[in-house]
Order: sequence, then C-alpha cells, then structure tokens
Amino acid sequence: MAKFRKKRTFIGLLLLSLLVWAGCSQLGFVKKSDQKSQTIKANKTTTEVETKKAVSIEEEEKEKDMGATYVEKNERREKVTAFCQKIEKRFTKYGWGKSKCMNYPWNFVRTSVKGDPLIWMTFGNETEKRKETTLILCGVHGDEITPIKFCFDILDHMNELALKEDKEEHLKDRLVLIAPIVNPDSFLKKWPTRTNANGVDVNRNFPTRDFKRDAIKLWKNRYKKDKRRYPGTVAMSEPETLFQVNLLKRYGPDKIISVHAPLTMLDYDGPADRHAGGVVGSSANQLLMQMSEQAKGYKIKNYPFFPGSLGNYAGNERNIPTYTLELPSSDNRKSKKYWRLFKDAIHSAIMHTMDKDMEVARDERAPSDSLKQN
Ligand SMILES: [Zn+2]
Repeated sequence: MAKFRKKRTFIGLLLLSLLVWAGCSQLGFVKKSDQKSQTIKANKTTTEVETKKAVSIEEEEKEKDMGATYVEKNERREKVTAFCQKIEKRFTKYGWGKSKCMNYPWNFVRTSVKGDPLIWMTFGNETEKRKETTLILCGVHGDEITPIKFCFDILDHMNELALKEDKEEHLKDRLVLIAPIVNPDSFLKKWPTRTNANGVDVNRNFPTRDFKRDAIKLWKNRYKKDKRRYPGTVAMSEPETLFQVNLLKRYGPDKIISVHAPLTMLDYDGPADRHAGGVVGSSANQLLMQMSEQAKGYKIKNYPFFPGSLGNYAGNERNIPTYTLELPSSDNRKSKKYWRLFKDAIHSAIMHTMDKDMEVARDERAPSDSLKQN
C-alpha cells in the first residue's frame, strides 16, 4: 500500500513538475509576445517615434535601392512591367491613348497594400549641387482619376524637355520628381475608391503633430465616421503614406504639387501663407498667383488644413510650399482639356526657384480651424 502511495506521489510530482514547466514556458512565450506587442504599441504612440522610424526606413530604403542585386533588380523590373500592363488597360478603358508607362525607368522600393509597386520618376540633376527640387504627386485618392492622367501628361512634357537641345539650361540645377499613382490599389479597383486597400485615406494618415489628439476625434464628430475620410488609428500606418513621407525625406523638395479633383481650385499651404497673415509678396505666393493667372485665373482658395494631411505635414509643419491643384472633375473625357489649361502653370512651377531666404510665417491657427477636404 505504502509502495503504491509512494508511486502515486511520484507520478503526481512528475505531473505537477510537467505542468509547472509547461506553464512557465507558456508564460514565457506570452511574455515575449506581450513585450513585442507592447513595443509595437509604444513605438506607435508618438509621432516623433514614427518620424524617426521613417528616417531609418528611408535610409534602409535608399540602401536597398542603391545596393540591389541583379536578381532583385530583375524582379523589380518584372513587377513594374506587370503593373504597367494594368495601367495600360486603364488608359485604354478611359480613352486616354498610350500611357508609355513601359518606357520609363521607374524608381520603386516599396509596394502598396496589395503589392503593386509605388513608382516615381526623376528628371534632371540628382546631385547635391541642385538648386531646386519639385515633387509632384498624383492619384493619392484613387477615385480621382483625371489627376493620374495629368501626371502622365507632365511626364510626357518632362520627357520632351529632357530631349530638347537646351535641356542643360532647363534641368541643369533642378530635379523634378513625379509619383503619378500614389494609391494604385484604389485606382485599379473595378470601381475606384478614395481610400486605400485598408480603407484609410492616405491624405489623412501623415504623422502630423495633431494626429494623435485630433484625427480620430474629428473623424468621429465632424465627419460622422465617414468611411471615405478614415485617417487610420495610427499615423503613417499605410505604405502609401510612408512612400510619400520617404520621398520628402530622401529628396527634401523645395516645393510640392499635389494634384486632386474635383474641387476646382488651387490651394496653398506653407510659408507666407496668406491665410496666416504671412508675407504676401513672397516667392511662394508669387508662384501661386502666377499659376492661377496662367490657367485663365483659376480660383485660389485657402482652405485650412486637416490632421494627417500633406498640407499640414509638409506645408504647415515643415514649411515646404505645398500647392494642391484640384482639377474641376474626375471625368476621364476632360483630361485633355485640363492638361491644356494647366500646362503653362505646371511648367512655370517646375521652373520657378523658391526664394530660400523668405520669411517663414508662424502657424497661429487654432486646431479647430485646421480642416480641409482635399
Ligand atoms: Zn483628393
């Protein structure tokens, strides 16, 4: 009997130690993943950390871009070719003729949520000696389709310019960056949408200082949870936002032109913002007036900006003159007309050299005032 009890105790102890061991390792495992999720959480709480993350990713990205192996480069080419075939189909569908997407030596490192390449082209001087860098973004909202054709028209124009004999004069000191389809997943849908594949508005997802405090709150209260304007729970959660932030960090543009539709206006955010009472005669405002004049007096409207928007992130917080051109509609049949109307204005904008010493206007706008639609 005693022997049996001994045996039972032994088995009991064995079982107990097994349970303790399993529990510990289980606990250990939970703890590890807990730590991991806590780290992720902590990383995503401050926009400063987010911005830091963007810097390191940007460096890594540059390295990846420069140091790509032959196989990697080949894979990228194949990816771009497949993507361009999809773009070509859209061009045919919308009656836009040939996109010439295949002809361009696109840059790309990052992909969209669904895995399509986030492409950009560079024209001109990429060395540090350049005096002026212009970044042009199109297709941030996938259902605004005319801006995408508009960017391909700019690409055509830049190509012609580069082929001209006097290209040395035109592009000697400047660099022009064109990202024609910032949000490809939405554009390539059967029925294009404003938000990306995760349902996030990538012009509301920038890591602005007011993001954490205001983005979700405003979306809930002011926009009654309008799905088209969802900023995401965390700033810069989307690859399409990261893509834009990295272009800014990598090239440090002197000005940005972001093309949207259909609000029929030219909007400006940045230094000497007239709305904030800055210096009206500044270089940036001069260009604003000039662009409007060259497009038959196109309406200039100064809308306040929004938490997580490009105008806020680049124009307001980083003092980069940011022009938002809102074309009159997303009607694919009007694309030619829009390009004719704005060709000169875009050319002037590219050739304009910002006065680098201009006075920087302080942002004194109340947060409740900082709302904008584009
Ligand atoms: Zn838009």
